[in-house]
Amino acid sequence: MIKASGLHKRFGHNEVLKGVSLEMSKGEVIAVIGPSGSGKSTFLRCLNHLETIDAGRIEIEGDVLADTDAGGQARYAPEAEVRRICRRMGMVFQHFNLFPHMTVLQNIIEAPITVKGMSRDAIIPKAEALLAKVGLSAKRDAYPARLSGGQKQRVAIARALAMEPDIMLFDEPTSALDPELTGEVLRTMRQLAEEHMTMLVVTHEMGFAREVANRVIFMDQGEIVEERPAAEFFASPAHPRSRAFLDNML
Ligand code: ADP
Ligand code: MG
Repeated sequence: MIKASGLHKRFGHNEVLKGVSLEMSKGEVIAVIGPSGSGKSTFLRCLNHLETIDAGRIEIEGDVLADTDAGGQARYAPEAEVRRICRRMGMVFQHFNLFPHMTVLQNIIEAPITVKGMSRDAIIPKAEALLAKVGLSAKRDAYPARLSGGQKQRVAIARALAMEPDIMLFDEPTSALDPELTGEVLRTMRQLAEEHMTMLVVTHEMGFAREVANRVIFMDQGEIVEERPAAEFFASPAHPRSRAFLDNML
């Protein structure tokens, strides 16, 4: 589903990704963990072209999004192709990013209508089904300001799913929530995983990573330091830096 190799990214003099590689199969759930500033968000954002890489290669479901040319520079596919490829990935952010002036339903149907050209008649029943799935049918016509953080994040997940992505990227989806609201969001994500959605999840929720993820990637200072099956990783992290990180988290 995702094949990224040798991703390099710098912001000015700050080298944020120093050759990050990842291969991900259909239905896999991968947790990306690591200290703040290690490049986790940048990595996710490069995969779906919210940031551009400087060098490396990104393949999504067999299509090349970007590749390094003979001069060592990343070259992207033509713009229409980039948009087509990135549409296969849904993203959920820490801060929900709902449209405040739209109701819950409008938030969900907006992109399918404007980006995919779906008719309202086709998308509304689908949006309602997604709302039922995330347990928010009663909030169909509410505005985001009237929702709790956990409810907002579940709407954000439903909104991403409405585009029918093949891959879901989550960037610390529960980090902005009060502790009592994280459970409802993690439950929704767990349900998605059980339905075999391919998911790449940056998270500080070690319980979720341990129980739901197949693999764990530990990043530090712009590199993947350790990559292991989740059960193995949590039982005995191999690298001193992952061990130190886990000791701090648990
Ligand atoms: P993480 O998600 O692991 O906390 P980030 O990917 O957000 O890490 O950040 C990695 C590094 O890149 C940090 O040093 C951060 O300050 C820097 N960085 C991230 N985004 C930008 C940006 N848009 N401009 C400049 N520096 C950035
Ligand atoms: Mg981050």
